[in-house]
Amino acid sequence: NIFSFHYLNNNYIMKKNYSNIYSFNKKIIKKTVNFLKLSNIVGLPTETVYGLAGNAYSDKAIKKIYSLKKRPRRNPLIIHYYNYEKAKKDVYFNKNFFKLYKRFCPGPITFVLKKNKNSDISSLATASLNTVAIRFPKHRVIKTLLKFLSFPLAMPSANISSGLSPIDAFNVFEEFKKKLKIIIDGGRSKIGIESTVVDLTNHPKILRPGIISPNEIRNILKTNFSKKKINLRSPGMMKKHYSPGIPVIIGQKPKNINHAYIVFGKRFKSSKNYFNLSKKGDLKEAAANLYKIMRKIKKNGFKKIYVSKIPSFGPGIAINDRLSRASK
Ligand code: AMP
Ligand code: MG
Repeated sequence: NIFSFHYLNNNYIMKKNYSNIYSFNKKIIKKTVNFLKLSNIVGLPTETVYGLAGNAYSDKAIKKIYSLKKRPRRNPLIIHYYNYEKAKKDVYFNKNFFKLYKRFCPGPITFVLKKNKNSDISSLATASLNTVAIRFPKHRVIKTLLKFLSFPLAMPSANISSGLSPIDAFNVFEEFKKKLKIIIDGGRSKIGIESTVVDLTNHPKILRPGIISPNEIRNILKTNFSKKKINLRSPGMMKKHYSPGIPVIIGQKPKNINHAYIVFGKRFKSSKNYFNLSKKGDLKEAAANLYKIMRKIKKNGFKKIYVSKIPSFGPGIAINDRLSRASK
């Protein structure tokens, strides 16, 4: 039906342009499983952000992910599993892992563990490190796929390296257009920012904050985090990352209405250039809105983004982390 339109970011765009976006059903799952078996790459929803998924055991698939994303090869990928049973062969578990797994999985948390010497994970996916980052996603689409597959999925966010992570199928389309044969639409990612990454290979250490806060993890592990500087090569730790492609200035008010202002809480008025992460002052909601709002600001033609102070506890730690990297 050529008169069927999709409502997207205040623009009506013809639906037929999106012929590589599929809704979730048995048929597309079967097609995607076969496609992944042949070392092809697909765009998939998760509860954190959308990902670019490929067979973690296939060098061919991993090479495709790096080249699609234009991601530096030294930045390792997170490997996604259905459950811990399926990861046994690839990593060495420890007590801290099981404590956190029991409490938070499946969910938005990634564990860095020692790589098992019998692991089949492509060494390209781990950037030849002797560690592996693993996650157990919760979203129904990826869980269904992982259940049917005999290999785990390497999956970074579905965006060109150093940009904003996509939080819906249309964001993924904007990044890769028809370069992906399959993008599965699983609705908007509920969490909206990337997983918390915790290194459990030694004394626990948070490598990247996320919606699960350091405090929640500390309460489960009953230990403080290592303050030691680590020299793990990891993308979430690269200085410039999560960039909307225009300058981001933190802790200042905009100078004029051509500059967007990201604010948080009810004390801010409504204005054409004001974008409120959460009017009711809910940090979880703010995290879920962060990338959506940054994409919208860019799309609306603003040349700069100013950001008011965001509280720095709970999910606020992750929001401030992303904003500060976006400002580099
Ligand atoms: P991203 O793919 O952008 O979501 O980021 C992946 C994150 O996982 C990085 O921030 C790293 O902290 C971490 N990571 C992935 N693989 C490894 C690994 N083999 N060793 C240590 N950290 C890793
Ligand atoms: Mg990313």
